[in-house]
Amino acid sequence: MGKRQKMAAFLLILIVCLCAGCGEQQVKKSELILDTAVTLTAEGADAQAAIDESMARLKTIDSMVNPNLPDSDVNKLAQLAGTGKWVSLQPEVYKMLATAQDYAVKTNGAFDVTTKPLVDLWGIGTDHAKVPSPVELAAAQKLVGWQKLELNEEKQAARLQDKGMGVDLGGIAKGFAVDEVRKIYAKYGIENGLINLGGSSLYALGVNKEQTAWRIGIRHPRKEDAQEKMAVLPLKDAALSTSGDYERFFEAGDVRYHHIFDPRTGRPAQSGAISVTIVADSSVPDGGMLSDLLTTAVFVLGPEQGIHFLQTMHHGIKGAIIDGRLQLWTTGDMAKEMEEVSRDFQFWQGSGELQ
Ligand code: ADP
Ligand code: MG
Repeated sequence: MGKRQKMAAFLLILIVCLCAGCGEQQVKKSELILDTAVTLTAEGADAQAAIDESMARLKTIDSMVNPNLPDSDVNKLAQLAGTGKWVSLQPEVYKMLATAQDYAVKTNGAFDVTTKPLVDLWGIGTDHAKVPSPVELAAAQKLVGWQKLELNEEKQAARLQDKGMGVDLGGIAKGFAVDEVRKIYAKYGIENGLINLGGSSLYALGVNKEQTAWRIGIRHPRKEDAQEKMAVLPLKDAALSTSGDYERFFEAGDVRYHHIFDPRTGRPAQSGAISVTIVADSSVPDGGMLSDLLTTAVFVLGPEQGIHFLQTMHHGIKGAIIDGRLQLWTTGDMAKEMEEVSRDFQFWQGSGELQ
């Protein structure tokens, strides 16, 4: 072996040893926050400190958006709805509301955080879930409408025009929280880790213990076992969110009533989509929050409009929509990137033919 080759071999061994060394410092912790099972994984000298601070941050965010806490900003907004009074908001809540309003305009009302009266009326996922009467539905629908949520940027305040209105940040808060944890990881110099908020919103940072991209399983939307996958997506330095009609639902007759509402009909969206996955790479500002809200928005828009909408977005954003016939509609290189695609699914080509 020549001197150069020896040197190269030595360097290679050194790199492998160093990597194995980092692997040993992986810290993993799980807690129930934001109504979901949060699992944080981080590698590096400050992994424990990063995870502890992140968990505390998640609890703070929860206290701002939790509708069951009387002092939360969202509760204050609901309490003062219709009084004309402005509610001063924490900057985090203001940011979520401002982004939500931006996307309410962009999606023509498909994404609308004022759907709260519908969420409460249908009670999906609670023990009082029911199909409401037409009268109840009409009354709740009158209290829904993003145009009746006013924001004042200078004052960082908001108000709702009618009594009975409320905001529900369930379609955006977990993604926002992912971005916040991502910032804490950066502060502590964490280069490898997984920020996982119940699988529905996550961020894959760097590589896993095997020194390869994190492998994210996308749930099969029609298998009861949550471990059954539709496909696996290798993910590195990117946020991913998934929304589906299998998360929280009840069935009556032949209809599946789930937790993603079409604010324009007042009913669980029947757009043809049954699951939506969105990936936002690290070039996308607020990628966690955007991927989260986009899954809900695209679910409501449905496969055709949803794909069209995604194609107008930042180039770092791509998506996969599953329709009721288990066809996969994708943008960007999503189709190419997916591995272990279950045989139950076929790729939709958009031309009327299947691959
Ligand atoms: P999760 O990630 O918790 O599974 P999603 O990201 O799919 O949930 O968001 C669904 C939640 O968003 C609902 O539980 C409700 O709180 C809220 N929501 C439902 N429909 C809409 C809508 N059209 N626009 C905005 N938020 C919605
Ligand atoms: Mg979500």
